[in-house]
Amino acid sequence: MIKFLELKDINNRCRDELVAACTRVVDSGWYIGGTELHDFEREFAAYCGTRHCIGVANGLDALVLVIRAWKELGYMSEGDEVIVPSNTYIASVLAISENGLVPVLVEPDPRTLNLCPVKVESAITNKTKAILPVHLYGRMANMPKIAEIAKRHNLLVLEDSAQAHGAHIDGRKAGNWGDASGFSFYPGKNLGALGDAGAVTTNDDKLAATIRALGNYGSYEKYKNTYRGVNSRLDEIQAACLSVKLKYLDAQTAYRREIAQLYTTSITNPLISLPVRLDFDALGNSSHVWHVYTVQCEQRDELQKHLLGHNIQTLIHYPIPPHQQQAYAELADQSYPVAERIHQQILSLPIGPTLSMAEAQAIVSACNSFGRY
Ligand SMILES: *Cc1c(COP(=O)(O)O)cnc(C)c1O
Repeated sequence: MIKFLELKDINNRCRDELVAACTRVVDSGWYIGGTELHDFEREFAAYCGTRHCIGVANGLDALVLVIRAWKELGYMSEGDEVIVPSNTYIASVLAISENGLVPVLVEPDPRTLNLCPVKVESAITNKTKAILPVHLYGRMANMPKIAEIAKRHNLLVLEDSAQAHGAHIDGRKAGNWGDASGFSFYPGKNLGALGDAGAVTTNDDKLAATIRALGNYGSYEKYKNTYRGVNSRLDEIQAACLSVKLKYLDAQTAYRREIAQLYTTSITNPLISLPVRLDFDALGNSSHVWHVYTVQCEQRDELQKHLLGHNIQTLIHYPIPPHQQQAYAELADQSYPVAERIHQQILSLPIGPTLSMAEAQAIVSACNSFGRY
């Protein structure tokens, strides 16, 4: 069976270094908020090109804490609106509603599956305070355009970079386009910890300090609580492992691009639509980090069965759009046909640093034989 993602194999490649990193932490006697965290924060900020990186407990917390900090700083308050793509993973939407703000779902561009700038602009009201673009599947949203719209309407931009470590447009990386960005280091992400972990990146000193305080019980100074904060920290063991894995990220991304290139040039079945390249993507695939390689197919469920019959495991990112989730029952009567069609047709093929080219070739052949009897 070709598994969708072989996490064990991925971590095995740097097993000795990971074990050494964990041993170093065990032997240090210091498990939270020490040198491993500070080193990783410095390394990841440098990687993204931002002034700050703040380690937090997970990717959802990263997004929640940015909005919470903007509320504490007086930039927005409960009832205000935040624009978010209608086809995103639920976490992007939860970060908004968790803060008592209103998620305004906007349809994606059907070619990129990322937030459509034209539709963003027409969704802006006098309650809109921020735009939350998601670099879905590892492809950058159209940040030049979104940044320009935000500037014109005096809105903040929060990037959801959970799937896009290292993605860039003209060399400017995900995490360094918005006023702030949330990253996830969930084990299956392109940069994955050995447990839960996340981070915020930003160039805003005041925001960075506020997020640090909020994630530490609302305290800037020990035992003095400015806010009713939370406990959201990136621990030493995860930070130490992330520093090990960050060194290999670019090489792994390059390999993902080779697989994506093979899929894009070799899957020729007219029943299967492949990811589209676009003009604003001046650097083409080089700005895409292929967290997942998604195809679209009207007979998606049959394609998935066909591939499984060839011992190929695929996943659906995601089967149900946010507005059709029980958690957002108040959105149930709204209609987002682009998102709905994506969710019905999308299928993610295996891709990752340990998938062999022979396996990728077998996946291509199985895709090309679909529907031919
Ligand atoms: C994974 C993910 C998150 C949440 O990250 P966690 O670390 O699982 O909390 C948020 N947004 C997107 C788009 C994601 O893929």
